[in-house]
Amino acid sequence: MPHTIAIIGAGFSGSLTALNILRQPNAPDDLRVVLFDPRGTFGPGLAYTVPSHRFKLNVRAKAMGAFPQEPEGFLHWLQKGEPTVSGESFISRQQYGLYLQELVSEAVQREPQRLTLKTDEVVEVTQRPDGSSFALLLASGEQLEAASVVLAIGNILRRGVGDVGTKGALREPFNPQSYRDLDQLRKLFILGSSLTAVDVIMESEGRGFKGHYSVVSRNGRFPLSHEDPASFPSASLPPSWENPGTAFALLKTIRKASRACGSSQPVFDAMRPKIQQMWTNLSLTEQRAFLRHLRPFWEIHRHRIPHEHLQAIRELQAAGRLTIRAGKVSEVSAREAVVTLRGCGGEAERLRFDAGFMCAGPEGDIRRIDHPLVASLVAQQLIRPGQLALGLDTEGVPHRPNFAVVGPLQKEVLWEITAVRELRERAQHVAASILGSTH
Ligand SMILES: Cc1cc2nc3c(=O)[nH]c(=O)nc-3n(C[C@H](O)[C@H](O)[C@H](O)COP(=O)(O)OP(=O)(O)OC[C@H]3O[C@@H](n4cnc5c(N)ncnc54)[C@H](O)[C@@H]3O)c2cc1C
Repeated sequence: MPHTIAIIGAGFSGSLTALNILRQPNAPDDLRVVLFDPRGTFGPGLAYTVPSHRFKLNVRAKAMGAFPQEPEGFLHWLQKGEPTVSGESFISRQQYGLYLQELVSEAVQREPQRLTLKTDEVVEVTQRPDGSSFALLLASGEQLEAASVVLAIGNILRRGVGDVGTKGALREPFNPQSYRDLDQLRKLFILGSSLTAVDVIMESEGRGFKGHYSVVSRNGRFPLSHEDPASFPSASLPPSWENPGTAFALLKTIRKASRACGSSQPVFDAMRPKIQQMWTNLSLTEQRAFLRHLRPFWEIHRHRIPHEHLQAIRELQAAGRLTIRAGKVSEVSAREAVVTLRGCGGEAERLRFDAGFMCAGPEGDIRRIDHPLVASLVAQQLIRPGQLALGLDTEGVPHRPNFAVVGPLQKEVLWEITAVRELRERAQHVAASILGSTH
């Protein structure tokens, strides 16, 4: 029987884990990697399967290579088709999806015996009592035995506003159907003001929407934009900044360093390689304090948008076509939301609109979701819901060398694990460790 490693999910995380496993020098001769995804496309996942070229990467092309040792891999791939493309540009996510898809299909062509792509959903994983292997049950009814399993199912999406049981009231940002009738609508409501909200606004503009956007989010602010790094001095951080002790001390350090540079951008760039370390150094109490007080500030400074997008948003605001407000949405239906705006003495207001978009980010509280695969893994203590409602606590369970998680559900334990830069390192690390466990 071949030595099978099952990878559940073929977005960036699962696909790159598979490709890194194939690159390992110590792979056994009978290795077989099976990559599962019900979407039938292997590589792009959710982030890079988008309905239009207007959805852009928020990182410059020169830094989006899929492997840690080849950060310029994506740029080189682009330049094969378009030699003059600049590494500084923000390319469409569709294009990035094609790059990932090509990496996977090249690997299958090169090694058809070692890599199998399977269009199916894994609905249950059961570890054998002696821990040596797993039985996988697929939605098609098929079963498969694997020596090791990698869980790479991406974010778990929120639908509607879960609290009030109104599933599906708001439209999904990356579904082409969500934009079909925009030219006939006058008022759009957008719940959330992060990168996805900016995506929705740019796409709606491109599709001819001429009405008004009403954006409501907890912090009431859009992300900052990427500026030319050459226009700032590089940041200097105090020694051991990654061990700040408290969330408040971290904030003070960031503010001081940002004042010295005239921007927070170089400070976040300088912190980036050690953000995971910083997070694990904080106690649970301080992680909670970080989420309560620092998170809104962190999100807009760390996750930036291309300068042209911020410009377009400012122009919409100036033209009176976009308002953004800080508040909490307690109820939502397809045409109306109940919103308590900050600074309005706790008075709730009814906001009416023609259609709304859900841009409030993924569901981090695993206890609130109905997901049979996750539930079966929790029941076997292969994973457990995180205490901070940021995903999975993969550290608080007994270590199983032949089971691993890769992807944004690890935010609970690593915090900085949503972007390609961290995911490509994690995928490489998991590839080496899961293969190590097979000998
Ligand atoms: C909208 C968006 C834009 C982003 N833009 C950038 C960017 O510009 N730059 C950057 O660095 N990062 C960006 N990111 C962050 C990061 O690159 C992505 O989050 C990353 O692609 C996540 O990949 P993933 O494989 O973990 O998850 P996903 O892409 O969500 O893939 C998970 C896959 O698992 C499959 N799956 C789920 N359940 C099962 C199951 N039971 N059985 C089989 N398959 C299953 C799903 O069908 C899906 O294809 C972006 C993220 C998002 C959401």
